[in-house]
Amino acid sequence: MKNPEIVQKIRRLEETVFINPSKLPESEAERGCPLTMRDIEDADERLRRFAPYLAEAFPETAPSGGIIESPLREISAMQAELDREYDCRIPGKLYVKLDSHLPISGSIKARGGIYEVLKTAEDIAFESGMLKKEDDYRVLLEPRFRELFSRYSIAVGSTGNLGLSIGIMSAKLGFRVTVHMSADAREWKKKLLRSRGVNVVEYASDYSIAVAEGRKKAEGDPYCHFVDDENSKTLFLGYSVAALRLKKQFEEQKIPVDASHPIFVYVPCGVGGGPGGVCFGIKQVFGDAAHCFFAEPTHSCCMMLGMATGLHNEINVQDIGLDNRTAADGLAVGRPSGFVGKVMTPFMSGCYSLSDERMFALLAELVNTENIHLEPSALAGMYGPVLLAKDPAMREYIYKEGIGDALGNSTQLVWATGGNMVPEDEQEKYYQRGVEERRKN
Ligand SMILES: *Cc1c(COP(=O)(O)O)cnc(C)c1O
Repeated sequence: MKNPEIVQKIRRLEETVFINPSKLPESEAERGCPLTMRDIEDADERLRRFAPYLAEAFPETAPSGGIIESPLREISAMQAELDREYDCRIPGKLYVKLDSHLPISGSIKARGGIYEVLKTAEDIAFESGMLKKEDDYRVLLEPRFRELFSRYSIAVGSTGNLGLSIGIMSAKLGFRVTVHMSADAREWKKKLLRSRGVNVVEYASDYSIAVAEGRKKAEGDPYCHFVDDENSKTLFLGYSVAALRLKKQFEEQKIPVDASHPIFVYVPCGVGGGPGGVCFGIKQVFGDAAHCFFAEPTHSCCMMLGMATGLHNEINVQDIGLDNRTAADGLAVGRPSGFVGKVMTPFMSGCYSLSDERMFALLAELVNTENIHLEPSALAGMYGPVLLAKDPAMREYIYKEGIGDALGNSTQLVWATGGNMVPEDEQEKYYQRGVEERRKN
């Protein structure tokens, strides 16, 4: 097993930084990669074809013309608070990408999940001869398309948020849809889905089992499309489109990104599809100027374990004695996606883990300083800039990359992956727990 000292730290549930020794310069990394910029553009074009439909089907997307996108915000009050709290100096400027506020399903899953449902619908509609690429996709609102899609079903295994995205979008188009939910999924998510006519199947076990059961049930049915969170390239590419949108937002807000203005991106990671797709897109768009990190809970840091050992999906956090229990929805994943781990190995700067307690403390801090309400998992990225400023392994990374001088011009981008759909009373409980954690420290 490679990197035994990292595995030891993970086993002891220590907060750990893993700098990826297999990262390559962008040009070399791209040479061995099965996916390209062209794939991202293809996904972007598909989402544009659907935009007129989405603007009508989900009026909350009308202001952006049916494009599902989230705000990019500078959070200087939070930056100052983190500097004070952790007695450090975060270099550059701190920004948050509010995927927590994506329309339709309020999490990063509104990118990949919705994209895969739309692509499935388009494939079926093309094959039926009822739709052509050049058509105005608002025709999909007509009953004949609902009738067409009702002959098919869509299934997915999920800890919650992916189920929300797939369920809401599939039900809107007219598909029959089943969501296989792991034991940690929140009651309110199940309720919301059932209210939209989604068939929710509950499991007493964790995410991997819910996915495996869903996959097995779907296998025998040629009219069922299974959204495979562990292996889907379609999901991955749906997420990657975020980078093209981000580039535009940087231009609009006059934020330079180049060799002397590097960008550091910190993305909460569960099975890996969401953060992997986002980081893949960012590396394609910004190349060597981008430095990407996956952020995971100490109890479920499956991607770090997979990458550090080189075993990817052949190792599970339970194999080394972890319980895979975390309050961070969407991150309670014990086995990473092998596809994502392998594709992303030459692109990633590293991974780190943090405790649930710290996520809650950061949650309360963000409310206090910026009045932004996120779910706990979405705060995993927020610890990255602090580590960059303080952690010895991070300092060594900066030195090795030769970017010390550019650090002051850097953009520190925290990817906030969910939270806007959380009911107010749940949100208040999260906040109170965060206040409590802050008091303890
Ligand atoms: C799903 C999810 C993630 C991680 O995405 P993966 O594709 O599972 O790695 C992060 N944060 C939230 C809120 C999520 O729902």
